[in-house]
Amino acid sequence: MPRILFAAKPEQWPAYETPLATALAEAGIDAEIVHPGADPASIDYIVYTPFGPVQDFTPYTRTKAVLSLWAGVERIVGNETLTQPLCRMVDEGLERGMVEWVTGHTLRYHLGIDFYRTHQDGVWRQGEQVPPLAPDRSVVILGLGALGAACAKALAGLGFKVTGWSRTPKTLEGIDCVHGAEGLKMALERAEILATILPNTPETTNLLNAESLARMPKGAVILNPGRGNVIDDDALLAALDAGQIGGATLDVFKTEPLPADHPYWAHPKVTVTPHIAAETRPASAARVIAENIRRGEAGEPFLFRVDRAQGY
Ligand code: NDP
Repeated sequence: MPRILFAAKPEQWPAYETPLATALAEAGIDAEIVHPGADPASIDYIVYTPFGPVQDFTPYTRTKAVLSLWAGVERIVGNETLTQPLCRMVDEGLERGMVEWVTGHTLRYHLGIDFYRTHQDGVWRQGEQVPPLAPDRSVVILGLGALGAACAKALAGLGFKVTGWSRTPKTLEGIDCVHGAEGLKMALERAEILATILPNTPETTNLLNAESLARMPKGAVILNPGRGNVIDDDALLAALDAGQIGGATLDVFKTEPLPADHPYWAHPKVTVTPHIAAETRPASAARVIAENIRRGEAGEPFLFRVDRAQGY
């Protein structure tokens, strides 16, 4: 019987207790779930979150996999004590949440909703601000992974002209897929609305800097539900103040929680959301964990293994 260590924050256990038991039963796995304090040498699988109790994996000598409840793995991927396979979370709940957040904020800027919120002053402005229809609006998604591709497809489904950028070449129906340094330049130049759904790696750090922001059309909007490392904050603030960037909705930051005195909080063109774009949902995430444990027990390859050399 495999022993599973629930090594997330203890307060997460009530939300996961029933979904994990149900998902394991549905996967036909008879397992024992234990908590920190159990003998590390007896653990077959670790259910992990970054701020949980396990940071040193050395004593987990028989552990077959570390199964992250988070999609982003930047806090564990460089952990030198981790020799076991690492799998990240790809979950339909996360995906749906991200699609809703990105679509909602894209439509907000596309339709000019803020304009009417801030100009509700008794003046009838019919005809003043007619937005283009979606096929005439160019939206760019940086990152075409599980979440980025889902967002790109949803926006293309609404009729937007969607360009997606990734590290390696991709083909996605209805999306103009570009990659590499040249692809990025092309994408930036056409990005009226740009969402970055990239992982935190050395290569993505400060990707949106003074030079790349200057390539975007004047007044373009940035959505960042990926990771805060991607944005050079000083460069974004300068581009917002200069009018080069028309607005930004930011969910993730270099430092979280975003410090109370950070200029983003008070900036009139910035909307701050507190890392809520997409939450792992216990019911669907538990099914992913159970399927990976089933695979581990059957000697099959794990799903969603992190490429530690690439960092995501
Ligand atoms: P994936 O690993 O599935 O996709 C990552 C994408 O980024 C891939 O398309 C990859 O390219 C691309 N990429 C990575 N490095 C580069 C690079 N140097 N240049 C160009 N493209 C690059 O991740 P997910 O889609 O599942 O998640 C993306 C990120 O979203 C997570 O890492 C996490 O940080 C963030 N996130 C945020 C949440 C929130 O609530 N704010 C919730 C969940 C996730 P390729 O396809 O070629 O490999």
